Amino acid sequence: MKRYSVFAIAREALRQHQGWNRAWASPEPRSKYDVIIVGAGGHGLATAYYLGKNFGITNVAVIEKGWLGGGNTGRNTTIIRSNYLQDPSAAIYEKSRSLYETMSQDLNYNVMFSPRGVLMLAQTEHEVRGYKRTAQANALQGVTTEFVDAKRVKEICPIMNTDGPRYPVLGGLWQARGGTARHDAVAWGYARACSDMGMHIIQQCEVKGVTTDGGKVTGVSTTKGDIGCDKLGMVVAGHASHLAQMAGFQLPIESVALQALVSEPIKPCMDIVVMANTVHGYLSQSDKGEMVIGGGTDGYNNYTQRGSFHHVEETVRALVETFPMLAQLKMLRQWGGIVDVTGDRSPILSKTPVDGCFVNCGWGTGGFKAIPGSGWAMAELMAKGHSPLTEEFTMNRFRHGKFIDESVAAGVAH
Ligand SMILES: Cc1cc2nc3c(=O)[nH]c(=O)nc-3n(C[C@H](O)[C@H](O)[C@H](O)COP(=O)(O)OP(=O)(O)OC[C@H]3O[C@@H](n4cnc5c(N)ncnc54)[C@H](O)[C@@H]3O)c2cc1C
Repeated sequence: MKRYSVFAIAREALRQHQGWNRAWASPEPRSKYDVIIVGAGGHGLATAYYLGKNFGITNVAVIEKGWLGGGNTGRNTTIIRSNYLQDPSAAIYEKSRSLYETMSQDLNYNVMFSPRGVLMLAQTEHEVRGYKRTAQANALQGVTTEFVDAKRVKEICPIMNTDGPRYPVLGGLWQARGGTARHDAVAWGYARACSDMGMHIIQQCEVKGVTTDGGKVTGVSTTKGDIGCDKLGMVVAGHASHLAQMAGFQLPIESVALQALVSEPIKPCMDIVVMANTVHGYLSQSDKGEMVIGGGTDGYNNYTQRGSFHHVEETVRALVETFPMLAQLKMLRQWGGIVDVTGDRSPILSKTPVDGCFVNCGWGTGGFKAIPGSGWAMAELMAKGHSPLTEEFTMNRFRHGKFIDESVAAGVAH
C-alpha cells in the first residue's frame, strides 16, 4: 500500500494525482476463509484489523450487505468518551478511547480525532449524585474525569443558559480527553488497512444463512453463494437478532431507531461536546460548522432506517431551553440508524451456543466510541477463545443476573 504522507501528496500534485491506488480492493469471494466477519461497520472492520495486526490471522473476509460504513457507523454523532460507571465498561471504553488517540498514525489515515472534551450536564440532584459517584469510580479505574460546578460549566461552554426555568444546570461530569472523530474515516481507515493485509472486504453481499455441522459453524450462505469458514464473527448491530436466528439461537436484543439531525452551518460557537440526559439531547459543532444534534431512541421496536418528525421536535424543544441560540437556526437534514439495545445497556462480546461462532453486538446508542477497543477485544476472543476485556460481556449474563448496569451512563445519549 502506498503510504499517505506530505511527500506523497506533493509528488501526486506534480503528476495530476494519477498515481493513487484504490483505498481497498473489491475481490470476488473465495470458497473458504479462516475467519468470516459479517458486517463491515466499524466494529466488524476493527475486529478484522486486529485479527491481522495482533494475531497474524489474515485469511479473513468481511462480508457486508450494503456498503462499508453504511450502517450505524456512518450515521452516528461521533461522541467519544469512557466515563462509564462499572469496571468492565470503563476498561473496554478507556482502551478504546486511548486507541483513538493514536489511530490516525496507526492506520496511516486521518480519522480527525478531536479530543475537545465531553461534558455531561447534571440538571437534577439525582444526576449530581450519580455523576459524583461516576467521577469517584473513574478515579479508581484510572479514567480521568472530574465533577465540575455550574460556574465552571459556564466557563467551559459560554453559549449555554445554565439558569433554565425547568432544569437549571447544577454541574457536570467533564472528561477533557473525550471528543469526536470522523466516523466515515474510521471505517475507511480500517478497511484500507485490512485490504492491505490481504483480507477480502466483500460488499453488496448479504448473509442469508449460517451453516453448521455437528454444532460447529462451517460457513455462511450469501447472495454471492456459499462461503466456508472455521470461525464466524457476527458484528451486525441492529440486525444481530436476525443473524443469531440464522444460526439457531436467540439474543436478548431489541432493535430500535435512533436519530440525529444537523443545522445549517454557522460560525464556530462551541468547541466541546455537551450531553444533557435529563432533557434528552446532545450537541456538538462539526468542522463544517453545523450543529450536530441527537436525542433518544424511538419508543417502539422497528427496522426503518430513518428519522421521524416528532422526535426532531422533541429533541430540539428540549435543547432550546439550555441552548437558546438553537431557536434561530434552520435544520438542514435528519437521519436514523437501527441500534441494538440490551436490558443493561451494555454490549455482548461472546461465544455462542454454536462452536466457532462469536457475536459482538448490543452497543446500542453508544458504540462508535468503542470501535477500536471492541475490535481489539473481539479479535482476542476469536483468536484465543478468551479476552480479559470481554469476560463480563457474555450473552449468558442475563440468565445469571450478572448485569453490567450502565443505564445512567448509556441509557439516554452517547
Ligand atoms: C443517530 C445515531 C447517533 C449515534 N451517536 C453515537 C455517538 O455519538 N457516539 C457513539 O459512541 N455511538 C453513537 N451511536 C451508536 C453507534 O453508531 C453504533 O453503536 C456503532 O456504529 C455500531 O457499529 P457496528 O459496526 O456494530 O454496526 P454498523 O455500523 O451498523 O455495521 C453493521 C453492518 O452490518 C451489515 N449487515 C447487517 N445484516 C447483514 C447481513 N445479513 N449480511 C451482511 N451484512 C449485514 C449492515 O449493513 C451494517 O453495515 C449512534 C447511532 C446512531 C444511529
